Amino acid sequence: TATAEIIAIGSELTWGMSLDTNSHWLSLRLAEMGIEVAYHTTVADTLPGIVDALDHAATRADLVIVTGGLGPTADDLTREAMATMAGVELVVDDSSLTHIEGMFQRRGRTMPERNRVQALFPQGSSPIPNPHGTAPGIWLERPASPERGATLYIALPGVPREMKPLFDEAIRPRLAERFGTGLYVIHKTLRCYGAGESRIEEQLGDLTRRGRAPEVGITASEATISLRVTAKGRSREEADALALKDIHFIHQQLGDIVFGAEEDELQTTVARLLSQRNKTLATAESCTGGLVGHLLTEVSGISAHYLGGVVSYSNAAKTELLGVPAELIERHGAVSPEVAQAMATGCRARFGSDLSVGITGIAGPGGGTETKPVGLVYVGLAHEGGIDIAEYNWAAERSSVKLRSAKTALNLVRL
Ligand code: ATP
Ligand code: MG
Repeated sequence: TATAEIIAIGSELTWGMSLDTNSHWLSLRLAEMGIEVAYHTTVADTLPGIVDALDHAATRADLVIVTGGLGPTADDLTREAMATMAGVELVVDDSSLTHIEGMFQRRGRTMPERNRVQALFPQGSSPIPNPHGTAPGIWLERPASPERGATLYIALPGVPREMKPLFDEAIRPRLAERFGTGLYVIHKTLRCYGAGESRIEEQLGDLTRRGRAPEVGITASEATISLRVTAKGRSREEADALALKDIHFIHQQLGDIVFGAEEDELQTTVARLLSQRNKTLATAESCTGGLVGHLLTEVSGISAHYLGGVVSYSNAAKTELLGVPAELIERHGAVSPEVAQAMATGCRARFGSDLSVGITGIAGPGGGTETKPVGLVYVGLAHEGGIDIAEYNWAAERSSVKLRSAKTALNLVRL
């Protein structure tokens, strides 16, 4: 299979002022065609830097896609750098010049002299007509030399709104024909909560072995684990079937650890389940400070099922707003299974909800003791059938303790 490199040109990118979204977008497009992107390079607007990056790419890639630096201003150096790299002159392309003049005429303006440079091309390259802007792209074939193989360079405008349609219309079909493996690549994601990465990996056995097809990758973010299945087939149907086989196996192995797919978050899954089961939910939060309520209200349409919440941070608030007996707090401490239970049941009674969660814990960094360390959290779930209480011990810093506690509460509601 062909190896590709993407070179993003622009000092605004290397300075960190704007984000290189072109490389991200192009990589996904190329991967779909079975073209593997092995390098992303970002270069500032300097001629030696760009020439060097272009030249170096030929030693390791069959296909080099360049974005940016095709404009008419002094800092747009891609044309010149391509010519220098290839050791050729820049020559005027008449039809490109006519196109650029036409773009200005249609807007009732005459073409500024400096836009003429946009009709210059390295000798031997061909222009890629750009109906979406003034700067045409450049298609340049660099022949093999004794030191390296042949390389195809394609330069595209930096503006994403021009680059994307130009790629899809003019580049993609030609690349698919030349480099495409004929394989269809699809990605499917499963979202998991309630087990660590290593336990999940263990349960999946051979599935996550490197080099296996389909490929199954694991990534974790604040205790939410994503399993990404990448399958290749000669058709979409074949790739789909291969992916579905793995997805079925993952569901079988992990059971209710899997809470959703693709972009799902715990709160979207909870919202969906509340709606399916026609249940209402209320929240009583101490150490999470309203985070569960925040996550739930990220989901549009939740108002039919989320009644509201109480942030009862002080002991007095727990007593006054939720009816947690003061002597219960006195006896067991605010961070205790008894208080989590009383918060959940008090909240359920006051809101008249079907389900209610109560969360109390020590977010840290201070406030921990020998018997009640930082990260100790109790989550209670009150429901028609009674109450469930769970104890957690997050060895994490404050914001993580809060987020994991909130996610765990949502996870309990889901289960
Ligand atoms: P133009 O002909 O419009 O001048 P150009 O090819 O010269 O296009 P640049 O001048 O390098 O492109 O960039 C134009 C704008 O496009 C930048 O201001 C930036 O916002 C956006 N852009 C450039 N490169 C990227 C990139 N890699 N990812 C996302 N946006 C980009
Ligand atoms: Mg520019």
